[in-house]
Amino acid sequence: MQSVTPLGYPINVNIHAIANPYLSLSATRTEALVLNQKKYFTNKPCHNGHISPRYTTNKQCCKCNASKSKQRETTLSKVDPSYRMYRSVQRRSGQILSGRYSPREALGCSRKTLHNYVSQKFTKGMCWEKYGQWELDHIVPLSKAETLAELIVLCHYKNLQPLWKRDNQVKGNR
Ligand SMILES: [Zn+2]
Repeated sequence: MQSVTPLGYPINVNIHAIANPYLSLSATRTEALVLNQKKYFTNKPCHNGHISPRYTTNKQCCKCNASKSKQRETTLSKVDPSYRMYRSVQRRSGQILSGRYSPREALGCSRKTLHNYVSQKFTKGMCWEKYGQWELDHIVPLSKAETLAELIVLCHYKNLQPLWKRDNQVKGNR
């Protein structure tokens, strides 16, 4: 069974190819470059055995690339509390926004900006090493939002402050 890519190159369709959604991609990097496609799909396994598209710019396997960035993320999470905080706040707004709006858009700033903003709001004794003893608190609680628009506003980083965990628990009980 034969199939052709957008430029008419024949590619062999095998059982893997039928099971995967990449057939609309070019089969060669050259073709992808000509067509200005970000990825191409050779249908051949990478050195780690993934049958996955590759990036046109650097020929890297997309699956290898994704697992590398996941590893990087895990490492960063371990060593960088500020990164952990950034991820945590996005996760939290992601849960409550539940697909209706992008948590990153709602946050309204980069990781670096959030880092600087929170640093400036540190109260006595707070530092990054103590993240966990303090946490990020929504000044106006997200639960106060009555509409999606209000919720988006409350997810904004200017509504965040570092607060000692015990104080935050007190606040929660009020
Ligand atoms: Zn791979």
